Amino acid sequence: MKHYFHGGIHPADGTDKLLSNQKPIRIYRPKIVEISMKQSPGSVCEAIVKKGDRVSRGDLIGEPKRFGGANIHASISGMVIDVRIDSVSFSQDIEIVVIEADDKEEPEYPTGDYEERLLDLSDYSKDMIIAKMKDGGLTGLGGAGFPTYIKYETKEKISHVLINAAECEPYLTCDHMLMLEHSYAIINGVLLLVKASGAEKALICLEDNKQDAAQVMERIISDKDLPIEIKILPTRYPQGGERQLVEATLGMEVPAGQLPASIGVIINNVGTAKALADIVLGDRPLISRLVTVTGKVKDQGNYLVPIGTRYSELIGASGGFTADISRVIEGGPMTGTCLQIGGSHEELTGSISKVTSGLLVLEDEQKDETPCIRCGECERVCPAGLAPFKIDFAAIENDISLCDKLYATECISCGCCSYVCPAKRELAYRITEAKKEIFKLRWESNK
Ligand code: SF4
Ligand code: SF4
Repeated sequence: MKHYFHGGIHPADGTDKLLSNQKPIRIYRPKIVEISMKQSPGSVCEAIVKKGDRVSRGDLIGEPKRFGGANIHASISGMVIDVRIDSVSFSQDIEIVVIEADDKEEPEYPTGDYEERLLDLSDYSKDMIIAKMKDGGLTGLGGAGFPTYIKYETKEKISHVLINAAECEPYLTCDHMLMLEHSYAIINGVLLLVKASGAEKALICLEDNKQDAAQVMERIISDKDLPIEIKILPTRYPQGGERQLVEATLGMEVPAGQLPASIGVIINNVGTAKALADIVLGDRPLISRLVTVTGKVKDQGNYLVPIGTRYSELIGASGGFTADISRVIEGGPMTGTCLQIGGSHEELTGSISKVTSGLLVLEDEQKDETPCIRCGECERVCPAGLAPFKIDFAAIENDISLCDKLYATECISCGCCSYVCPAKRELAYRITEAKKEIFKLRWESNK
């Protein structure tokens, strides 16, 4: 079986990950959380609490406005001190529920046997697990934040669940640390995912720079006749892209425009498997997540925080910026979103959502684009098999129809093209914008 995919790059030497994966997970407890009713791009909820309400940790505070959303729960116990409106892109008004913690110390997150040993899951049916995914507000923790139950309500016959533990983005180590410290919960969660899907087996897919985590999990599953296999893949970005993972592990291609379920595959991030175990076996909805805080901050590490923890507070807890001019990125350096350039950490707005894998602070570098020299490097590394420079020209000309013909919608926004471009062209950014425009036009023409 081959273990590679088309294109890709080695964007870093691994020392970036050492900044944050040498210390145990730390728990951070904020006094205030600001929980957005938009926890991922396609998921908008309506707040069902109001200013002055008292909430307990785990209470439901937001319900989806339409299909494609996931429940939102209070991540700390306390008083709702505000429900304010934030206007974001596409003129959407998004509610932010602000909760101030009670004076008394919140107890530790409850844990259970599922963190210590493999449990007998025979009492849990497919329907029961899917219902708990829905109630518990489970979404993908690795990227797009798609509600997990929707993937499992598929009518397709599923043969494999791929657990994406590649964590191929430079700097991010939260999945790695989760596997080292919560391996039993993860394996129990994976077994629940196998039951919910009816799949023959799950493959836990890691890059070969996480051998220690692979060994920890291998020890748990060895000699037990479980439908789980550990798959070690070469460290190569974007190994964790859904299509790339399917190609590298199963040697199959997901047809353009279709979901992996169309070929019998469901893919979940390893953090999602752990969160499912918390929901089903720990009776705790998705209210916290592990976040890598790294780069140019004083005290890099992985922090377990309630959803809604303010960026400013978490950067403050990690000692603040150490660069002269800081660029703050939510996520990793390749696919993350730039939150702020310059200024102090106190000026950061926004808070941790279910999909925030990291807060990365880099020294800001000026990038001056120069004309394309037709070297072909962007085409060589593109894992989607596109010709980024051609789409870029079309995007600059605002020729969206040509971008569509050049398959811009197949772009996975991995950033490989921009990374290798000697002319420092912002290819990934413009192609991603063109892709959004194509989907917008398609949606409008279907109205
Ligand atoms: S065109 Fe898209 S998929 Fe291809 S390298 Fe650039 S960002 Fe990645
Ligand atoms: S890598 Fe940059 S310079 Fe080379 S073909 Fe692509 S856009 Fe042009």
